[in-house]
Amino acid sequence: MKLITNSEKETLELGRLIGTKLKSGDVLSLDGDLGAGKTYMTKGIAEGMGIKDYITSPTFTILNIYEGDLTLYHFDVYRIDDPREMEEIGFDEYLYGDGVCVVEWGSIVSELLPEDTIDVHIKKLDDDVREIEILGASFDLKEWKA
Ligand code: ADP
Ligand code: MG
Repeated sequence: MKLITNSEKETLELGRLIGTKLKSGDVLSLDGDLGAGKTYMTKGIAEGMGIKDYITSPTFTILNIYEGDLTLYHFDVYRIDDPREMEEIGFDEYLYGDGVCVVEWGSIVSELLPEDTIDVHIKKLDDDVREIEILGASFDLKEWKA
């Protein structure tokens, strides 16, 4: 499905809706240029999962972990040069564990991601306008009317 958001607030709201639909073991791969809105989307997802913490970008830490109804593993693999680096930090344990994984720049490590990964591509159309394509989701977003 392809959706449009017209502000960061709408992307947050869309993320929130997605977050309410995620199940144990789900993996989301987020792609899109710097500033596309991957981290904003993740903030919404976290809220939707019942997480109250302030979400920050894990660009430098690779992984941030938040406890909610389910545990959220928020990765940013921008700085990873070789997918093997992720294997070394035990990526599989997270990907195939009980929590939810959100991986910013997931295409960099696509060879490591589960087959049923939900792919989210965010494209900047204008200053505040984003096209968000979601592939491989088993949920629908019928409630989304933006
Ligand atoms: P990324 O993680 O993809 O690098 P961020 O989520 O950190 O991007 O930043 C997105 C930037 O784009 C923020 O500065 C945000 O305010 C801005 N922005 C403008 N319009 C939107 C929109 N529709 N959705 C998401 N972010 C938007
Ligand atoms: Mg980011």
